Order: sequence, then C-alpha cells, then structure tokens
Amino acid sequence: MPSITVDIKTKFEPFNLLQLPVALFSKIDKRLIFCNKSFDELYTFKRSLNKKDAYKELEKRLIDELNCIYQGDAEYHTFNIEIDNARKKNIYEYKAYKNSEYIVVHVQDITKLKKAQYLLNSSSTMLEKYSNEMFMLAHTDQLTKTANRRALFTKFDELKKANTNLKCTISIIDIDHFKKFNDTYGHEFGDYVLECFCNHIKNMITPISFFSRIGGEEFCLIQDKSDIGESTENIQQILESIKKMQLETPTERTANISFSAGVSEYGPDGTTLDVLLNNADKALYYAKQNGRSCVIPYSTELFEKRDDLLFVQNTARKIR
Ligand code: GH3
Ligand code: MG
Ligand code: MG
Repeated sequence: MPSITVDIKTKFEPFNLLQLPVALFSKIDKRLIFCNKSFDELYTFKRSLNKKDAYKELEKRLIDELNCIYQGDAEYHTFNIEIDNARKKNIYEYKAYKNSEYIVVHVQDITKLKKAQYLLNSSSTMLEKYSNEMFMLAHTDQLTKTANRRALFTKFDELKKANTNLKCTISIIDIDHFKKFNDTYGHEFGDYVLECFCNHIKNMITPISFFSRIGGEEFCLIQDKSDIGESTENIQQILESIKKMQLETPTERTANISFSAGVSEYGPDGTTLDVLLNNADKALYYAKQNGRSCVIPYSTELFEKRDDLLFVQNTARKIR
C-alpha cells in the first residue's frame, strides 16, 4: 500500500470493506492516493518483486493507461493487465473513470471469463473446421476426389442464384464398356481407370466448368457461359484426347478409354437440373445406340426422329 496520510486513510476506510479492488488517483497530478485492502491483496503474490517495487511498477503502468483521462481525451477507460505469480497467470480488467474529485479505478478478475472465452473460441474454430471437413466429405467422391452428385446440385443452385441470365450446358459423360475393365483386369484396375479418367478431364476443362461424378462410371460436366455448340465441341476434343491415353494394365497390354456423352442447354432444354440431366441422358442414350465414342447434343427433334439416328450424329447441330 502506498504511504497515505491519516486523513485520507480515515476518509476512505469504508472502501476496505469492499471485496472489489478499488484505487483512487489524484485528478490533478498523476499520483495514486489510495487503494483498498482488496486492491492491495492483488499484488501481495507478486513474488518476483518486493511489494514496494511491485507497486511502483503498477503505479507507472496504471498512470500510463490513465493518461488518456489525464489529457482529457476520455472520461472512461477500460484495460486489462496480466499478473503472473509463480503458479498461474491472472487477467484483471481495470475500469477507470473520472468523478468530481478523483480518477476511480476498480478491478475485476476476469481470468475465468477469458479462459471460457478462449475455450469457446477454440471449440467454435474446431467446430467450423469439422463442419468444413464434413461438408467436403459430403460433397466429394472419395475414390476420384471429384465433386459428387450432391455437390453438382449445390453448384447448379449457386449458378442459378448468381445469374439471372444463366447460360450454361449440362453434359453426361459415360465411359464406354467400362465393365470390361473390371471383368478383364479386376475391380482395382477399374478404380484406377476412374481415377485416370477424372484427372485427365479435370486437366482439360476451364476453371469455370464444374466436373462431378454422378454414378459408377457416369459423370456430369457443367460448362458455364457456353452454348450447346461450343460445349459439344469441347467434349469432342476431350474425347479425342482421352482416346489417345494408354493405360498400363496388370498385363503387358495397355488399355484405351472412350466415352459417350449427351449435352443439354440451360433454357431451351430445361431450367431445372433434373430436366436438364434427363434430357442429356436421352442424348447419351442415343450416343450409346449410335456406336458409342461420340457426343450428341439434345434436341426435341432428335427424339421425334428416332429412325434417323445415324443421320442425327452427323447433323445434330443442323437439326437443332
Ligand atoms: P456402356 O458402354 O453401355 O456404358 O457399358 P458399361 O460397361 O460402361 O456400363 P455398365 O452399366 O454395364 O457397367 C458399369 C460397371 O461399372 C458396373 C459396375 O460394377 C462398375 N462400377 C461402378 N462403380 C464402380 C467403381 O467405383 N469402381 C469399379 N471398379 N467399378 C465400378
Ligand atoms: Mg458406361
Ligand atoms: Mg453408365
């Protein structure tokens, strides 16, 4: 406790009954006038310094903090001070304000509150991390690390919400005779084919395209800002390049992949993903019927002229 006159001691005696640590500073000169017993006790465990030095250090620190009140920049100031003792660190919140005669400072131990806040923050960070991981897991196909069907629907909703004049296409891409890879070289090789297939396509598409695995060997590609003509051409190029891939098999022979695809366009061929997928699937069916390894754009005429199927493949754009 700083040395204080008997007058002041008597005057402020009732403060000693308070459990709340309170200190009074002179309003005129930068000086600690009085502090009650609770305030005093706060510093008795400051073992690294003797009590007098501990007070000096604290007084200096407090006066630094109170400068904003002394200089008339603030009427009120709150700040925290951490006090270390040998075993633990306590955090105190100091509230200082000016009354008619003094600058009054009272102190609250907020160590537990801070701990609770820290725990709450770290648990909410963990929770956020886990929920992001859960989201990723729920939206990713684990074998190929490609977006899954759920992610496709989420993406399509996002695109629709973001663009009132949405222009995009939906393509279903299905690997031809995939079953034969499993049957000839085993399921593991089939998995390897799926992984190679996905990596190859991901390397070829634009960043605004969205590729997803929607079934065993079925995939969907959204091509944003593209019409059906551009999209069909892009997929044809992917097909040409994928056909050149030589996959190492467990035997000495290599294997080749081809796929068939059906394309539908947002707007003319539907505005919901279900309808667009359904129409792309119809075009895919034609591609399969048409000898596979080709890309067919959907068109209503196409399905009205079932008998002209081979004609459709070569003139699909004209038909539309
Ligand atoms: P099509 O050209 O008509 O599409 O013939 P396909 O053999 O590709 O199609 P089909 O539907 O007859 O066979 C698909 C096979 O894909 C059947 C299924 O066992 C296999 N498959 C589905 N998912 C996986 C997978 O994750 N890994 C492996 N290895 N095979 C899978
Ligand atoms: Mg297939
Ligand atoms: Mg299939």
